[in-house]
Amino acid sequence: MSTIIPQTMGQQYGRRSWAEPWKIKMVEPIHMISREERAQNLIDAGFNTFLLPSDGVYIDLLTDSGTSAMSDRQWAGMMLGDEAYAGSRNFYHLVEAIQTYYGYKHIVPTHQGRGAEHLISQAIITKGDYIPGNMYFTTTRLHQELAGGTFVDVIIDEAHDPINPHPFKGNMDIAKLEALVNKVGAEHIPYVSLAGTVNMAGGQPVSMANVRAIRQWADRYGIRVYLDATRMVENCFFIQEREDGYANMPIAAILKEFCSYTDGAWMSAKKDNLVNIGGWLAVNHEDVFEKARNMVVVYEGLHTYGGMAGRDMEALAIGIAESVSDDHVHSRVGQVRYLGELLTDWGVPIVQPVGGHAIFLDAKRFYPHIPQSQFPSQTLTAALYLDSGVRSMERGVVSAGRDPETGDHRYPALELTRLTIPRRVYTQAHMDVVAESVKAIYGARDQERGLKMVYEPDYLRFFQARFERVGRG
Ligand SMILES: *Cc1c(COP(=O)(O)O)cnc(C)c1O
Repeated sequence: MSTIIPQTMGQQYGRRSWAEPWKIKMVEPIHMISREERAQNLIDAGFNTFLLPSDGVYIDLLTDSGTSAMSDRQWAGMMLGDEAYAGSRNFYHLVEAIQTYYGYKHIVPTHQGRGAEHLISQAIITKGDYIPGNMYFTTTRLHQELAGGTFVDVIIDEAHDPINPHPFKGNMDIAKLEALVNKVGAEHIPYVSLAGTVNMAGGQPVSMANVRAIRQWADRYGIRVYLDATRMVENCFFIQEREDGYANMPIAAILKEFCSYTDGAWMSAKKDNLVNIGGWLAVNHEDVFEKARNMVVVYEGLHTYGGMAGRDMEALAIGIAESVSDDHVHSRVGQVRYLGELLTDWGVPIVQPVGGHAIFLDAKRFYPHIPQSQFPSQTLTAALYLDSGVRSMERGVVSAGRDPETGDHRYPALELTRLTIPRRVYTQAHMDVVAESVKAIYGARDQERGLKMVYEPDYLRFFQARFERVGRG
């Protein structure tokens, strides 16, 4: 009799857990291939997780972009697609959803986030301008540069330290903004580029106090404030949790207030908005809207679909409403945090505090005996895949590329391996498997050898570079 109830359950009696606010209606089978097959796949992929076939992956934590599971409502919405070239009814639903939940006036749909970044950058940046932002994001900075602008990092110093416990490591430093005005003049700063949360800093949030201060500062100089809203819903969770006065305010109300301090936003709907493809630009000023709406027909599609099918816009409109539900956001961030807490308890070095969409393993502390020139983070992604078929992403010296002047590797302070959690896709049991695998390879860390790069493409090398193990035997 006593064997039916495991002992540990008795020990846990009295514990109250949270659970996902959904149940599973349809499943996608996955299975783990053998260790021998995984070893062969690694060699075939040149030890680069971007080159692995998805069928060889057991739990895929490469990215949270476009990998969300849609709800039954969203799938039902897909059947209500109005595929008219112009004036699709789904477009009006989308506009209404963005106006309702984000509060902006004018909407331009795009195929994904970078389409919106392209439009806003071309619409308001002139050659020689400077764009201050809270740490760069790859596509955002590239579009600002392609429009003739120069990105300037004005994030607080704490963001660059992987163990600093600051609750809002995504905040901007107003003194750095002020210094930029003094240096280049307000007339050369078309807007402040504010991201919530900050991906490259580990999914770190921006406080409401900070966006208010940015707004006040910008108003003094007549500078606009635009928001990268890609993971803004997750940002609102941290405000609710950590900032005075917001504990009892719903996520939806926090989102609306935050956006009210900005002049518009661009969005990769593939993240927060719970769809597999899509994006949008939303602005309050008529002049920017005019330009963006005119340009969208050149680069994306007519201004009532912007590269999306009608059914995609319907799923997106429904996804927006679902994404701001408190239950949803709590379980989303709760799952990321669950994985983070297991790893923290087991002494595995990760970026702290844990952010909204991913766990970042600190490869420098994980493999202190592997020099950065032998790619500790890349090594870690390979070790994790070999151990359990879990796919992660390198965010270290490979991603940082080479210095164009000297041709040497850039050696970033942060040498990280990202475990990115798709929304509504994996269960707590999957997180256990991931954590236990990370723990196992951490236990065997002394035996791990580094990698050498044997093929290096000219651009964005992390996507296609190939590696071999250093030494033999
Ligand atoms: C993904 C992402 C983008 C770009 O969006 P895409 O939909 O991939 O084009 C922009 N900003 C941030 C913060 C992102 O994570």
